[in-house]
This record gives sequence, structure tokens and C-alpha cells, in this order.
Amino acid sequence: MATTGQAIRCMAAVAWEPRKPLSIEEVDVAPPKAHEVRIKVVASGVCHTDWEYLYEAGRGMNLRPFPLVLGHEAAGVVESVGPDVTKFAPGDKVIPLFLPFCEECDQCKCEKTNLCKKNWENTQAGVLADGTSRISCRGQQVYQFLGISSFCQYTVVPDTSLAKINPKAPLEKVCLLGCGVSTGYGAAVKTGKVENGSCCAVFGLGAVGLAAVMGCQVAKARRIIAVDINPDKFQKAMEFGATECINPRDYGNKPIQEILVEKTNGGVDYALECVGSPVTMSAALESTRDGCGTCVISGWTETEWMNVQVIKILMGRTLKGTYFGGWKSARDIPQLVEDYMQKKLKLDEFISHNLPLAQINDAFDLLRNGQSIRTVISLEDF
Ligand code: NAD
Ligand code: ZN
Repeated sequence: MATTGQAIRCMAAVAWEPRKPLSIEEVDVAPPKAHEVRIKVVASGVCHTDWEYLYEAGRGMNLRPFPLVLGHEAAGVVESVGPDVTKFAPGDKVIPLFLPFCEECDQCKCEKTNLCKKNWENTQAGVLADGTSRISCRGQQVYQFLGISSFCQYTVVPDTSLAKINPKAPLEKVCLLGCGVSTGYGAAVKTGKVENGSCCAVFGLGAVGLAAVMGCQVAKARRIIAVDINPDKFQKAMEFGATECINPRDYGNKPIQEILVEKTNGGVDYALECVGSPVTMSAALESTRDGCGTCVISGWTETEWMNVQVIKILMGRTLKGTYFGGWKSARDIPQLVEDYMQKKLKLDEFISHNLPLAQINDAFDLLRNGQSIRTVISLEDF
């Protein structure tokens, strides 16, 4: 390609500082170094985690360096590859991954976990393997969010943080498999291993929670109770397979876990927390049944603690967390794309809005106000 080996000037939404709207800027994206791939981002979902890092920076979240380009739920096309890249070529359709799959570390070789530690510290610090970012704006380095930064028309990622997918896959849909849908779906079917005939509760009905509802339905759960304080989410939850919906605010001061234990005659088999609040995490655990209830936490907070009453664990409950739904990223995501193409998995139904990059702040407002499930940002029609 004509751009190979050269910096690409393009548009990005830059977060100059925490708690301020994003600013649309011209940026330069440097060519990929060894074991790196530069991709043209076609579409990116807007995830709660993007919003949280910007507006809750330093509160529930560790403070990341700014300026920063957010975005981590994307799909695109390989533009060029750096030296020593063997698995990708220009033109490949890809999903960048905030969780790598290096295939070499102990965690990658272990089937019990998906937590590849390749480049972990660098990714958390907003840089690639050599300690720098490939994006700059007005001569200043701009950090890469979770090693990706998809609110930019081009970005550079490590070749271990990229999944090659079916060339026929619609990128403006399968981008959702880069984070939210894979996480919630995997929380149910992979980490939680929800069983046929079981009774489940899902807390929080954003994209992650709705994907968890979908996972419970695919796993043939008998009862799927969807819980949210925003009743506008209930219709969608029913479409995704919930058998009933509950608004904790309809019950005054009575804790939601007590309501669920009563309604289910002792508690649910599986509780899936998809809110990100320590209070709902404790409630989810306490809503599971004695003896064998399982609580899976997908909701994200980095600095907070949850309360666990020891007797709840002593009585045989299991508390688990899931990062990216437990999927071995580069290995498993292409299969989820296939499942979508074969209509075994829903994606279109999660997309409530489509907006161009220039309206990214509107997408954040929609998310914050509970008006959207997923907004997909188009990086092409600017
Ligand atoms: P979202 O904002 O779209 O949805 C959250 C939902 O929770 C909303 O519908 C909201 O009304 C509801 N809610 C808020 N307080 C509640 C309460 N007290 N009880 C019940 N419902 C409540 O968010 P999302 O994009 O679906 O993400 C959900 C969580 O998952 C976030 O914490 C996000 O950071 C996290 N996440 C984790 C991973 C992972 O790898 N574990 C990946 C993606 C997202
Ligand atoms: Zn690894």
C-alpha cells in the first residue's frame, strides 16, 4: 500500500484530560514496529469501560496517563505489518484484542485461564512493547487505551492482540465481539458454565448483561431473571431470553437479594453481575442458593472492595470473576464471529445507535443516560 512504512495522518477522538469531553483531532499514526500490525479501524462500539476510564478516572478506576485515545471494541482491516509478523497480511479483516493470546506464556498454555500476561504492564500504562505509543497529536505522544485506541481511524496493535476473522464478516456488527458481547456471553457459558434447566439472575442490562441473558438462554436455563434499575431495558431483555424482569426500586428498601431468594425459593443457581458496583456484586452473591450457587462478576472496578459474608461462602457458594468472558482471545473470537454468521449468536440486536466519529460525545451521553445499548461509531464516514 502507498502508506506502508509512513506515518498516516487521520482523525481521532482525543481525551486530553479526565472528565472532559473528547476532542476530534488530526493525529499521526506511526508505522508498525516488529511484531506489530497497523489497522484501519472501520467500526468501534462504545463500552461502559471507555466512559468509566474518562469520567471515573481515579475513582473506581486507576488513573491512566492522558492524553489518551479511548476505544477498545472494534473491527478493521490490516493496512500494513511490521517486521517479523507472520500471521497477518494487508487486507485481512481483524478484531483487535485488549486481552492478548501469545500462546507461549504459562497462562496461555493453561486451559483454566485466558489471562495472557504478554505486554500486560505496558498495555495498562497505555504503551506498546517498546514503551511508546504509535499515536501522536500536535507532536505530543497520545497514549493507547488497553493497547488498542479504536476511536482513531488507524491504530497499531501487537500481533498477539489481534484476531483474524472471516473475510465476509460485517465489521460494523462483529466489532461488538471485541468486548461487551463476548464478555457477557462468556460469563454465562464459559466462566459460569450455566447448566441446562438452571435458574439464573442477571444484574445490569447493558450490552454485557444482555449478552449474559443470551448466554443463559443458549445454555437452556429454565428461568432467567433480569434485574435493572432502568425499566427501559426490560423489553430488550425479554427479547434476548429473560423470563421475567425486576426493578429493585419497586421494592422500597428491601434488598434485591432477599426478593430474589424469596421468588426462587432459596436463591438462584447462577447470578451474573454486569453492573460494576461492589453493592450489586455482594447482592448477586447473596442471591445465589446455599450449597451450590455460583456468582460470576463481569462488572469492572479496580479500586473498590466488595463485602462477602464468610458464611455465604462457607455454605458452598462459588464466587468467580471473568475477564473478557473467559475466552482465549485470538483463538476463540474468530469462532464467535462464525457463530454470528451462522445465526447462533445475536449481534445486530445490541446496536441501538450508529454515529460517526464526530459525534462520539453524543454516544457517551446516550450511554450515561441509559438510552443506548451499544452505539457503533463509524470511523469511515467522518
Ligand atoms: P452499561 O452502562 O451499558 O450497562 C449497565 C447497566 O447496569 C445499565 O442498564 C444500568 O441501568 C444498570 N444498573 C446500574 N445500577 C444498577 C443496580 N444497582 N442494579 C441493577 N442494575 C443497575 O454497561 P456495559 O457496557 O454493559 O458494561 C457493564 C459492566 O461490565 C461495566 O462495569 C463494564 O466496565 C464491565 N465490563 C467488563 C468487562 C470484563 O472483561 N470483565 C468487559 C466489558 C465491560
Ligand atoms: Zn500468553
